[in-house]
Amino acid sequence: MSPHQPPKTRTCAADKCGRPMPTGDNSTACPACWRRFDTNLGDIPSIMTELDTTLSRQTASGSSNGPRSSETPLPYNVDASEAARLLSMTLWPWVKEGLDAHPAVPLPSPSVVGMAAALMHLNGWLVVHPEGYLAIDEVGFAVGQARTAIDRAADRVYAGTCDGDDGECGEELYASEGSTSLRCPVCSTERDVYIWRRNRLEAAGDSLLTLSEMTRAIGETGSETVSRKRLEGWVRRGRLIRAGNLGAVPLYRVGDVLDVIEGEKRRAI
Ligand SMILES: [Zn+2]
Ligand SMILES: [Zn+2]
Repeated sequence: MSPHQPPKTRTCAADKCGRPMPTGDNSTACPACWRRFDTNLGDIPSIMTELDTTLSRQTASGSSNGPRSSETPLPYNVDASEAARLLSMTLWPWVKEGLDAHPAVPLPSPSVVGMAAALMHLNGWLVVHPEGYLAIDEVGFAVGQARTAIDRAADRVYAGTCDGDDGECGEELYASEGSTSLRCPVCSTERDVYIWRRNRLEAAGDSLLTLSEMTRAIGETGSETVSRKRLEGWVRRGRLIRAGNLGAVPLYRVGDVLDVIEGEKRRAI
């Protein structure tokens, strides 16, 4: 017996927390971590909606985006479906254990959203569960993965067909927004995204476009944004010369616009 030993303070067992537990609280995790758990469960319906959107955009863009083979799944789609699967696999063991212990709780709909709702219902049981903190960690991780998959999908932009592996690869490449290079997930060949976009635009140098089409075409390359207003300014000052007509609408050469952009950049340096 050592009566002078200070009472040992329990700390929250949830990952990366370590906050001291309030006196008399017998849970394995602190109130702040349980609040985080509740927030994550509450976010799951909207997360699932966004994951579904991400997955269906994959299907929809297969026809409208043109240059890619439909049998090759995009890297980000794998993320979205994997993230949904991970959520399901994470929630299910907790829901099952909780329902087994509480036969009175109504069975959830067999979906991720249904399981999240059931777990919210079983919150009181989890708080006193000897491994309750693990539910906080696991759900936190799965929800984090899902959020990453959603963000990533939103930011991906087409970056052409991979010509690596002696031109045999053929993988459709997607870059994250604002990134200048990427590595092919299949053959590991590096692609300079900026150069690829420039080349694509330059290859279309002799195409004639209206000013609206021009703004869109240049914007889609992701390397520049040129407003229609700015283009009109160049026309007024004679820096951009009309190269044709579509009915009454003037047309301009893509290459001419690129030259003006290039000139502006040089002057800006
Ligand atoms: Zn905590
Ligand atoms: Zn490749």
